Order: sequence, then C-alpha cells, then structure tokens
Amino acid sequence: MELVTPIEYIKGIGPERAQIIKKNLDIHKVEDFLNFYPIRYIDKSRHYKVGELTEMNNEISLKGKITDIQEVVYAKGRRLVAKFRDDTGSLELVWFKYSKWMREQIPLNTEVVIFGRVQLFNNIFSMPHPEIEKKENTENSHTLLPIYPGSEKLTKYGVNNRFFQRVLNEVVQHLPVLLDENLPVDLMQGLKLISRLEAIRNIHFPSNMQWQKAADQRLKFEEAFFFQLGYALKKKHHKTNSLGNPFPLVGAYFNRFYENHLPFELTNAQKRVLKEIRSDMKLPVQMNRLLQGDVGSGKTMVALLAMLIALDNGFQSCLMAPTEILAQQHFNSISDLLYGTGIEVKLLTGSKKASERKVLHRMLKEGSLPILVGTHALLEDQVEFKKLGLGIIDEQHRFGVAQRAKLWAKNTTPPHILVMTATPIPRTLAMSFYSDLEVSVIDELPMGRKPIITAHRREKDRIFIYNFAKEEIAKGRQVYFVYPLIEESETLDYKNLNEGFDTIKEVFPFPDYDVVMLHGKMKPDEKEAAMQYFASGKAQIMVATTVIEVGVNVPNASVMVIESAERFGLSQLHQLRGRVGRGAEQSYCILMTSDKITQGGRKRISTMVETQDGFKISEVDMQLRGPGDILGTQQSGVIDFKKLDLLQDANIIKAAKQSVEKLLEIDPLLSLPGHQKMKDYYIRQYKGKNKWAKIS
Ligand code: ADP
Ligand code: MG
Repeated sequence: MELVTPIEYIKGIGPERAQIIKKNLDIHKVEDFLNFYPIRYIDKSRHYKVGELTEMNNEISLKGKITDIQEVVYAKGRRLVAKFRDDTGSLELVWFKYSKWMREQIPLNTEVVIFGRVQLFNNIFSMPHPEIEKKENTENSHTLLPIYPGSEKLTKYGVNNRFFQRVLNEVVQHLPVLLDENLPVDLMQGLKLISRLEAIRNIHFPSNMQWQKAADQRLKFEEAFFFQLGYALKKKHHKTNSLGNPFPLVGAYFNRFYENHLPFELTNAQKRVLKEIRSDMKLPVQMNRLLQGDVGSGKTMVALLAMLIALDNGFQSCLMAPTEILAQQHFNSISDLLYGTGIEVKLLTGSKKASERKVLHRMLKEGSLPILVGTHALLEDQVEFKKLGLGIIDEQHRFGVAQRAKLWAKNTTPPHILVMTATPIPRTLAMSFYSDLEVSVIDELPMGRKPIITAHRREKDRIFIYNFAKEEIAKGRQVYFVYPLIEESETLDYKNLNEGFDTIKEVFPFPDYDVVMLHGKMKPDEKEAAMQYFASGKAQIMVATTVIEVGVNVPNASVMVIESAERFGLSQLHQLRGRVGRGAEQSYCILMTSDKITQGGRKRISTMVETQDGFKISEVDMQLRGPGDILGTQQSGVIDFKKLDLLQDANIIKAAKQSVEKLLEIDPLLSLPGHQKMKDYYIRQYKGKNKWAKIS
C-alpha cells in the first residue's frame, strides 16, 4: 500500500463501492482516506442511563442488557425490535434492514455497551441500527469513536460509519511506512507539536481526549503553516519579479497641496498608511496594497495624496468606483479639494456623451489629464493613458480580480495598485482573501466624530420616529429612510419603497418638506439629479433602497432610518449607518423591525446597537455566515481548510506565520537537508493548485 494506491485496492472496498466513493466523496487514493477526518467523536467512556435521555441526545452510548428480540411483520415489510434495559428503564432497539445471521449475533442477557442515535417516537425512546459490543470487549478499546461525514445515499451502498472505521483501521496499520514527517523537527519541538504520524493516527483513532486534541492542534498548525509558506513565497516572488515604476520624489504638487489646501489635519492613521503607500511606491516593484478603513475614516484623502505623488513623478492616476453615484461623488470631492491648485481631474462614466469622451480620451493619451475618476467605463480598451502610474479601486468587493488585471494592462510597466475597501474583514480572512495584497488599515476616525446613537425600534414606535425626524429637520438636518432591496422579491420591495415614499410624503407634507426618492431602476442621470438635490440641501428627506449603501457622503444628514432592518445583512447595515455621522452633529441610526425576527436577525440588530467597530461587526458576521459566504463562492476555494478555523484559530495562524518567517530567514530557498521533506510535501500538496496565484 502506498499513498497513491487507488482505493479499490484497499481490502474490503471493491470496484463498485470505490466508484461510489470517488464520485461522492472525492476520495481516490489511500492518502485521501487519511485526510478524510471524522467530524466528531462519541465518547464511549461516558455511558448514559436510559433515565437521563432527553430529546436532544445525539449519538451516545449506554450500558445494559438486551432482554428480548422479535421480528415485527407489517404491511410494507418487517423489522427487528429488541428491548434494551439498564437499572433506570428501557429503550427499543430497531433494525429495518437485517439478516438472519445478524440477528443471531445479537447478544442476549449479557452486559453490553450500545452506541447510536437516540430518537423519541410516540413517546418511546428508540435507537435504530445500534452498534453493540460485549462489555468485556470494550474494556481496552479506544474510548472515542470517530464519526465520519456520511449520507443516506452512501449508507445504501454500505458506506457507513462502520465501513469508514474498518477502512481507516486498515490504512492506519500501514502509517509508519506511508507517512513522512512534513514539518522541521526543531519547529515541532519548539511548539510541542506531535508528529504527523501520531496526528493522523489519533485523528482517526484517538487514544484519549488529550491525544485527539493534540492531533487537532498539529493538523491545524500544519494547514496554517503551509498556507503561510505559500503566501510568503508568493510575496517574495512578486517582489523580485513584478517590475513597477519607482516614484522616488515627493515634489511640488504634493507639498503645495499639503501646505496650502489640506482642509484638516490628517489623522495619525492616515499619516501611517500614507507612509506605507509611499514606501511601496518608491521601489521599482509594483505596489499591490489593500487599504482597509471603516466608513468615514478618510480614505479619499489618502487616495488623493497618493495620486499627487504619482503626479510629482510624472505619472497619471485613475480612481475607479463601482457605481456612477460613487464615481460622481469622488469626482466632486476631489475637484473640491483640488480647487485652486491648477491640477485637472475629469470624470468618465458610461453615461458620458461620445463627444466628451473623445476629448477625454485624447487628453489621457496626450498626458494632459493627470487624474481620471470613473466607473468601470475607464477599463474599456479605448481608454489609453500616456503614462498610468497608479490605479486606485474603491470598494473592491464589487470588482472582480479580472477587472483589477485589466487595470494592470493599461501601462507597459503595470501601475501601482491601491484597493480601498470599507468592508472591514477579520485580518486572518483578509490575509487569505487578498493574499496577493499587502494590507494597510486606517483604524482611527477623524477627531471630533460623535459615535452614532443606534436604536432598535418597532412598528408601534413609528409615530415617535417621525416626530423625531421632524425635530432633526427643524434643526436643519437631513434624514434617510432606507428600504430593503433583495432580488428575489424585487417587485415586493418596490411596492414597499413606493408605499413608504407615499406615507412619508403624507407625514412630511410639502412645502415644509421636500422628499426625494432614489432606487436602482432609475437612469444614471435621474439618480445623479436626485442625489444632487438631496446633497445640496433642497430636499430634507431621501427615501432610498440600498443603492446608497456605499460611499454616499452628505455630511448634513444626521438620521438614518432603516426599514425592515432584519432583512439586511450585517455589513450592509454597517455601511448604511456609515451614511450618517459624517459631520459634526450628533447622528442617529434607527433600525425598524417587525415584532417577529429570527435568531440571526436578532443577533445582527443587537450587534449593531452594541458596537460601531467595523472589525467587531465583521467578526460577528463571519460567525453568523461563515467565511465562504462572506467572500463569495468565487473565492471560497482560497479558504478551503479542513481543520483550521480562520476565526477561532487566530493564535495558530499567528504562530504559523512567525514560524514561516523564521524559517525563510534561515533557509530562504528551502535548501537545507532538514527541510527537504517539507519542501517535497509543499510542492506535492500545494504548488500545482496554488489558488493564491498572482493575477495576470
Ligand atoms: P471613507 O473612508 O468612508 O471613504 P471619506 O474619505 O469619504 O471616508 O471621508 C469621510 C469624511 O471625513 C469626508 O467628509 C472627509 O472630508 C472627512 N475627513 C477625512 N479625513 C479627515 C480628517 N483627517 N479630519 C477631518 N475630517 C476628515
Ligand atoms: Mg469612500
């Protein structure tokens, strides 16, 4: 037997079952079986009493005697029913499928231990298809029984838990010749990790709880270690292979702006990330950096300053936003900031007229336009730059990797790339998701921001909410009402939105109030007009769907009312809340829900009320939804860990990172003899399927 031996050659499987297993479980060779870990264990040393059974019981074990057994025949078939007793009561054992031989094997009136899942049916506890062991046989066997993931379909072909135990028992016998250690010995000793051999043996057949835990730790570390190794090697490769335009200068454009036009003092966090960006762009290596900063943390200013550095070095820049509204808004704020500097900025979106585009295209090609803001329209082939040195992408999660790659191709030497996102994701996740990016974090809001007061309210409070909004408007503030927009029920949502709009117009009648509506089905220029109308203060109220989710900046708006808030995801709620609290005034976020909300919904709402920290919110989000869901299916392969949990195992990930750093310092090429086995393993397991491969 070897690791690569096809499974049909393992004793007791046979070709037919092998096919089923290959197809359903993606297990093809011996090694795959070893890596097919139990999902949990039954503690056989803990025997339950019949008297303490509850409906909640999972698979458990009991000790007692089987007292009688009989076949019950009924219209559709027959089944075997036996009585199991201990000193506290009795339980039915049931077999729907059995043979004469099997029936004869069931030991009667002698001490046994049974394992299985207890069910409550017609007020009687029963256990279908229990495993039975004579008591004397259980004494020296393992106390933790591995439970493998299975399905009814597989069970039909005899691929059940007992089958897995048997096969793995067979394979595990051969472990000493099958397995090589894949971690350096000194590293294992330093971290008190058990060997790979012990780990695999104990993950399948733990000697006891301690060994099972140790095996878990070891296998988690291994995953984290090789992931980090791949990550580090790839970064190193990038540093030595990705040529970029060095920006050595900080010159007149930057300095003049910084001294004469900066409307506020930068926060320390803004200064720090700017330094990080600068030191990247100084080098003749392409920058690939992710700028994470909570809503309102001031990413736009950082972006502009980076663009000025590009300009000082004779390069053009572009800033790409996911929607027209956002592009327009970036264009507005950047034009405002650049007012009086003589630096030109233009906007390119899908709705630009052909004649205007022509002019724009020419200016870009000649190099007379230093800064371009736009939507993905700026990725089109006709858009050619003379010297594009920096591409900034706002709100990354809306753009795919392919689009980023298109930006790369806009210059012979690829431009530096800065990706900005306001969706804070836990660091460990960021590292995996954006594994080809360095990460900068703005972890501080500008001074003087007041925390947004967040409250959960229900239908019965509606009248108070309207009155509160009126008070705020009387103080000169503006108010958002946001309605859900979920694709499956789009028509219903528009109905809600329109009804909401009508109600609000009734509650806030003209001429004192002006209400605008904004939703995704409006044409770009209509949206823009509505946005402008609200931003200019002409309307006091905006009724909108989540099109205003990201980036919209109207500092005078102080109240955000979110209708049916239980229907929104956490990060969406957080983004929406970020639309207020952008000015000096106290702001409010009111989460309206129905009286009945799911447990998940309740957790989301309470998290929003409790904290405003985007990172904390994203951790809860990840707990609720799982990392795969957050990253989307496209990326979930990146985080396909078997054992490692990105959220729970942050410490292991950190230890693995440090170990990799130390390792590469000592042996950057992994050429020391003591590292050969590790290198072999890495190449075999990870290299070919390196999902962290550089985009191109
Ligand atoms: P985001 O990171 O969400 O894109 P913005 O760049 O839109 O945030 O900034 C939010 C608001 O904060 C803007 O009105 C901006 O002018 C302001 N701002 C940014 N940096 C500072 C600062 N250092 N001090 C004061 N206000 C700032
Ligand atoms: Mg922004």
